[in-house]
Amino acid sequence: MKKIMMFTIREHEREAAKAWAKNNQVEVTLSEDVLNMETVEQLKGYDGVTTQQTGKLDDRIYERLNELGIKQIAQRSAGYDMYNLEKASKNNIIISNVPSYSPNSIAEYAVTSALQLVRKTHLIEQKVMKRDFRWQVPIMAKEIKSLEVAIIGTGQIGQITAKIFNGFGSKVVGYDLYPNEQAKQYLEYKESIEEAVANADIVSIHMPATADNHHLFNEVLFNQFKDGAVFINTARGSIVDTKALLQALDSGKLSGAALDTYENESTYFPKDFRDKEISDPILEELMMRQDVILTPHIAFYTDIAVKNLVEGGLDASLSVINTGTYETRVN
Ligand code: NAD
Repeated sequence: MKKIMMFTIREHEREAAKAWAKNNQVEVTLSEDVLNMETVEQLKGYDGVTTQQTGKLDDRIYERLNELGIKQIAQRSAGYDMYNLEKASKNNIIISNVPSYSPNSIAEYAVTSALQLVRKTHLIEQKVMKRDFRWQVPIMAKEIKSLEVAIIGTGQIGQITAKIFNGFGSKVVGYDLYPNEQAKQYLEYKESIEEAVANADIVSIHMPATADNHHLFNEVLFNQFKDGAVFINTARGSIVDTKALLQALDSGKLSGAALDTYENESTYFPKDFRDKEISDPILEELMMRQDVILTPHIAFYTDIAVKNLVEGGLDASLSVINTGTYETRVN
């Protein structure tokens, strides 16, 4: 029987993993450990590995995996920026992801966050908690129907987000390095990000983190936004210069931001810090601000997405073990 190690197992994944193991007649070890230079030694005698890395992997790990006879790492997420694909390939390690486990889960969350900011529900809730039931200008909302939405990155998630905003009757514009025909049903493409954000009341980003887009959303770009816009990031933290975002909020250029990802999140998300110190003043500021909705990289977290992620990771691992490749390999 083949043996697969499932690192970073979370409580919500156990049931789907056990069911998959039974259906596929594979021995799957469920471990809460994170894959690193120490835990890689646990893979002696295993055929494959699936994990859910959040931070960068030590580059030496690929060589060690090769020595241990492991041929792949199946990442249980869409993003795979935590892997060094060149180093992996050099050591004959196939990296795979689960590119499409439920684009709806993230799109729906992006829209939910935008609605919270625009309809001021997070502010209203805070006031009600203090027994302040007055109708006041700071909690007067706009109607989503009357707004323009910019979708930056019009792949799977971006398109569904655009489609949902179409349902509200909003005007939806978009920008992508590679515009696609299907997205044109739901949005009007602009030639540049600057053009796309210029008149948008809501800007929602849906692109992967790449070497080229680190801090793409910086002071210069935020200055191109429409005054009072809200910014939604359910993509990747590194795409946004958080200090510049805070300045844009302070100056009133932006009226709010919903951040499901944060550039230095890997120390904190998704961990329990209730009794621990947070030594990141920027993160603390994001947590405290009334104009920011900060969530711990949770946009994907639905029952459907979790099942698809578990099965997608294990399918990829088993396929590389048995056939030497898999359709979702990324290197
Ligand atoms: P996708 O590959 O279908 O679409 C990404 C799109 O971004 C592509 O059309 C691509 O051409 C475009 N793009 C790439 N670089 C760009 C740039 N610099 N400017 C403009 N467009 C650019 O991916 P997807 O499934 O829609 O996912 C989008 C992103 O969402 C993922 O890469 C990931 O970072 C993020 N994500 C977040 C969560 C979460 O829980 N918060 C979960 C899954 C995915």
